[in-house]
Amino acid sequence: MAEPLRLKAKSASPGIASGPAFLAEEPKAPSAERPDGAPAPQIAGGFGALEKAIDVSIGELERLAEGADAESRDIIDFQIEVLRDPTIAEATGARMQADENVVFAWVATLDAYIGELEAADEEQMRARAVDILDIKNRVLGALAGTPTPDFPAGSVFVGKDMEPSRFLAHDWSKGGGIALFAGSAAGHVALLARAKSVPMVVGTGRFSAEDGDPISVDGDAGAVILQAGGMLIPTPAQAPATDTQTESGELRSADGVPIQLSININDPAEIDALDPATAGVGLMRSEFSVASVADAANEERQLAIYRQVLERAGDKPVIIRMLDIGGDKPLAGLEDLPALASGLRGIRLLLAQPEIARVQARALLRTAVFGRLSVMLPMVTFPDEIDRMRDIFREEAERLGRRALPHRMPPIGMMVEVPAAALMLDTFGSAAFFSFGTNDLTQYLAASTRDSSEADTGKAAPAVLRLIAQAVKLAAGKPVSICGDMAGDPHYLPGLLAAGLRHFSVAPARRPAIRSAIIGLNADGTRAAGE
Ligand code: PEP
Ligand code: MG
Repeated sequence: MAEPLRLKAKSASPGIASGPAFLAEEPKAPSAERPDGAPAPQIAGGFGALEKAIDVSIGELERLAEGADAESRDIIDFQIEVLRDPTIAEATGARMQADENVVFAWVATLDAYIGELEAADEEQMRARAVDILDIKNRVLGALAGTPTPDFPAGSVFVGKDMEPSRFLAHDWSKGGGIALFAGSAAGHVALLARAKSVPMVVGTGRFSAEDGDPISVDGDAGAVILQAGGMLIPTPAQAPATDTQTESGELRSADGVPIQLSININDPAEIDALDPATAGVGLMRSEFSVASVADAANEERQLAIYRQVLERAGDKPVIIRMLDIGGDKPLAGLEDLPALASGLRGIRLLLAQPEIARVQARALLRTAVFGRLSVMLPMVTFPDEIDRMRDIFREEAERLGRRALPHRMPPIGMMVEVPAAALMLDTFGSAAFFSFGTNDLTQYLAASTRDSSEADTGKAAPAVLRLIAQAVKLAAGKPVSICGDMAGDPHYLPGLLAAGLRHFSVAPARRPAIRSAIIGLNADGTRAAGE
């Protein structure tokens, strides 16, 4: 029997997984022309996409009508009639002429219609507003399209790269792993894999395998093993690391200083990892809950996701970060925006494309009534960015007030992940709190790219730690935490404690390691006597 073939790779998430290979198809480059010579329809931004989404929505409503009672039928028939009325599509088309993306144009057209109905004198007209809201969201759902089909549970994903949405949609409870020909250990899928304890390696180089071939991923040693003859390496039980302190509730350094340990969540379902000993959610990356610009434009969908997280968190605080899109976090359907082409990311993209920010601001304002929500702004560089986003929140709060929708203004803080902001933290008077994002801070400080920053992380750490220590002093007593990957690595804990940090937000799987490291250290970062 042939020997197993062992290929060297770079570890991106520890653990060992074995299973049948699933070979992902390479994404095809979009072709500008159809075979008949006509230009290809612009799926992301074209009017054709809207017409298709309206047709899909009408089909859904017709199916709903089939089993509905007379009263529901009336409502559904009214919705179908509105969707068939060409004036709405035409009004959307007219907005698109003015350079608006199809999703924004649809939302703006429908919002204007909803606004007119809400302002009507007759009660009956006002009651119709909710039907139009329903239509708006149904078409947004159809514009979001069908997600890429999932791959079999328990298999090892093999491909050039993997999209975060694909990772998040997959059921990892049956095991499985990831082997990428290219990819990066500092990339977002690697970050998600570490958070969910999914073994992953990157940089294997292209290798040939067939779908279903037995394959193992060794995320500890950094290797892929192609199992000739169906011989699989026995998989060590993937029991989650036990956390002896989980029930004790309080965490202190060896010399008795209280330390808060929170979790970062990427997938809303990860809120289930919140246990009594965890302070709260220090970072929810909201961008992983939206797969396309149509999702980003869907206020009700976002409200439902955030509300579920807040309700599950109970009286524990939750920090939801506004969409950090752009740069290495693309959003399907936004590719054609000039703001993206100019490389904007995070808050700058949100301010350049305020339609998206306004939808999310409304969803967050409405979520705030369900628990202890704070909102965090990504990639802030200059103080006026916070002021401008605060204005958006104020305006949207007023708008919600006019519509009599319950809402509350949450504290608004910022990520500290751009060196210019870290150096000038005392000038960010309107930020309610700060959280250090060492992933971006490292790459921008060390002139790396996100994909190559892992090579520089160790070497850049002294500079990052010095910058954090200076910035903590400039925070003027406002709450300060850290949610970048450095917080989840016990190796950096002495330096982070010495810099003055007392609140660490880490991937749920990193808690046991960080908790036991904290209890062995004094608050100044020195090792406790006897350790
Ligand atoms: C960071 O940059 O450290 C951070 C937490 O943000 P993200 O990893 O999502 O870019
Ligand atoms: Mg970041």
